Amino acid sequence: MYVATAALCACGGCHCSLMTVGEPFIALLADNSISYSSHFVDRRTIAPSDVVLVTGGIRNAEELEIASEIGRTSRKVIAVGSCAVYGGIPGAGDIPPVEVEDGSGLPALLPRLEPLDTAVPVELYVPGCPPPPNLIFEALKSVVEGYSSIRFDSTVCSDCPRRVQRGPVRRWTLHPGTGVHGADCLLSGGMMCLGPVTRGGCRASCPARGAVCAGCRGPSDAVLSSQLHSMYADMVKYVGLTCGTREDKVAREMAALLRWMYLFTRRDPVTRARIREKVVDG
Ligand code: SF4
Ligand code: SF4
Ligand code: SF4
Repeated sequence: MYVATAALCACGGCHCSLMTVGEPFIALLADNSISYSSHFVDRRTIAPSDVVLVTGGIRNAEELEIASEIGRTSRKVIAVGSCAVYGGIPGAGDIPPVEVEDGSGLPALLPRLEPLDTAVPVELYVPGCPPPPNLIFEALKSVVEGYSSIRFDSTVCSDCPRRVQRGPVRRWTLHPGTGVHGADCLLSGGMMCLGPVTRGGCRASCPARGAVCAGCRGPSDAVLSSQLHSMYADMVKYVGLTCGTREDKVAREMAALLRWMYLFTRRDPVTRARIREKVVDG
């Protein structure tokens, strides 16, 4: 098989994550051929491929051209990372279009960043910023070896070792406070952890180390199948229930944190994400 990787409006973190797979990844490449790659070989011209891992969304005319070329020459495309899947952090900024002078050599900016599947049909989605190495590798392996990948439908909370404490919380913050004790749940201690509404698969790597889940894997299946398909609405419901606080009060308190909740999915808050059935587990 011909395997390829490409980076559009990406920071390189997703490719670094893939590299940390190490020997199993090298072995897979040894049994196949790299047709082109932005990171692994000095071969960057787009060529026909069986499977391409694409990181990053589409922010300018050049990236749109590359994405379209990948679409024309590849059998299967895997969107790797939340930039490619949802727009990610670069999609969160409202940067007004910048005029590019003729002859500057710079590609024209598009009005806004778009997720990869606005330009190319995508076979599999691997959200995360970056996704854990095993999830990217499993997605690649499933295509190369021809088996069906498994959709990961639980939340970050379901993998989290912390203990949920039921009871009132006065306010939520993004910063470490004094309200969290030992192995207690960060959210119960007043930190705005998005674990209850975020797709699992990362082994709760942030809350396990004392940092809140920022929602980088995007909305969980429960959010996508709920009535409002909204991380915010589901968060309000969950917190109201665990804290025993009226939902309208929680909703008011949390409205100030809306941007935080859609940091990775602002370009694709709900509806388009909802149709995505092909999200892999490792
Ligand atoms: S998803 Fe995160 S790690 Fe991957 S390219 Fe985007 S910003 Fe970088
Ligand atoms: S809210 Fe955060 S800290 Fe609490 S259980 Fe869920 S993931 Fe863990
Ligand atoms: S815990 Fe949340 S922010 Fe951290 S890697 Fe997992 S999904 Fe991303």
